[in-house]
Amino acid sequence: MADRIFNFNPGPAALPLQVLKEVQQEFINFKGSGMSISEISHRSALFEDVLNDAIVRFKRLLKLSDNFKILFLQGGASSQFFMVPMNLLPEGSSADYINTGSWAKKAIKEAEILKKTCNVIASSEDKNYSYIPKKFSVNPSAAYLHFTSNNTIEGTQWAQFPDGGGVPLVSDMSSDMLCRSFDASPFGLIYAGAQKNLGPAGVTVVIIREDMLERASKDVPTMLRYSTHADKNSLYNTPPCLAIYIVQLVLKWIEESIGGLDAMERRNREKADLLYGYLDSTDFYRPTAEKDSRSLMNVTFRLPDEDLEKKFVAEAGKVGLGGLKGHRSVGGCRASIYNALGLDGVQSLVDFMKTFAQKNG
Ligand code: PMP
Repeated sequence: MADRIFNFNPGPAALPLQVLKEVQQEFINFKGSGMSISEISHRSALFEDVLNDAIVRFKRLLKLSDNFKILFLQGGASSQFFMVPMNLLPEGSSADYINTGSWAKKAIKEAEILKKTCNVIASSEDKNYSYIPKKFSVNPSAAYLHFTSNNTIEGTQWAQFPDGGGVPLVSDMSSDMLCRSFDASPFGLIYAGAQKNLGPAGVTVVIIREDMLERASKDVPTMLRYSTHADKNSLYNTPPCLAIYIVQLVLKWIEESIGGLDAMERRNREKADLLYGYLDSTDFYRPTAEKDSRSLMNVTFRLPDEDLEKKFVAEAGKVGLGGLKGHRSVGGCRASIYNALGLDGVQSLVDFMKTFAQKNG
C-alpha cells in the first residue's frame, strides 16, 4: 500500500497488513452479528470461538504439551514483573534472576519491592548490557530462573536459552515471542506484552505450566492470581476482546500465510543477516551488541556522532522509514524488525543507510 511506511517502531509496532485489512473488513459487522467485536459480550459464543481459536493456535505454533495453559491478561508485561514473584515464589524460598538490561532490572526491582529473596546470578551491566552472560550457576533449590529472552532496548537476545538444570525457567519474551521455535518443556512460565510480535497493546499473554498454578499463597488478591484466570479460561472478568481478536488474526497469519514458526524464524534470520551484514561491512555505522548476543528483533547501532544520528532518523522518516530512534535511555539508533516487517523493509533501510553513509561519511 503506497501510503504505508516501513515501520521500525519498537512497540507498539508494525502489524501484518493482511491482519489490518481483515480487522477493517470485519469491524462493523463481525461474522454477521450486526455488531463489532468491541460490542459483543465476552461470554458470547462468537467471542469464545475467537479466544479458543487463539489458544489452540498458540499451542500448536509452540508445540506445547497439554499441561500448559495460555492466559490473556491485562496490565502489560510490567505487571508480570510482580505477578511472577507474588505467585511463584513462596515464603522461605528464593528465585534466581539474570540481569541483561533495563527490563530485566525492572523485573528484579518488583521482586525486591515484594521483599522476595531474589539472587541476581549474572549481569551484563558492566558493559552497558551489550552481551548475554555465559557463566553463571543456578541455585538448584531456586523456585525459578528468570531471564529476558530479548532485550528490546539494548538489542541483545539469548541465542540459546539458559540451562536451569531442572529449575523451571521463567522468561519475559515480550519482544521476541513467536520469532522462532523453541522447546517449551523447561519453562514454568513465559509472558509477553502483545504490542511487538503478537498484536496491539492491551493484552499480555502468559503461558503457564499447570503445576505452577498451585504455588501462590492465600493472600494473593484474586485478580493477581494466575489460577483465577486459568480456572475461568481468561474470562474471570471482561478481557480485552478487541486485542485478543487481533492476536488471533496474527496467529492465523503466522500459521497460514507464513507457514509456522520455522518459516518465521528463517524469514527473521534473513532480515537480520541482511542488516547486520551491512553494518559489519562499514565503519560508518557501529552495531552496539556483541556479535554472539545480537538480537534478531532489535538491531541497535551508532553513527559517528549524535548530530548525525538525529539527521539519520529525520531523513529516514522523510523517505518512509519510521521509528529508527534508539530508546531515550541509551540513545543511538534502533531498527526493530519484528515478525510483521518483511525483507523489503530491511532492504529499503539498508539502501537508505548506504546512501546516507556516502553523503555524510
Ligand atoms: N519487557 C520487555 C522486554 C519489553 O520490551 C517491554 C516493553 N517495551 C516490557 C517488558 C514492558 O511491557 P509493557 O509496556 O507491556 O508493560
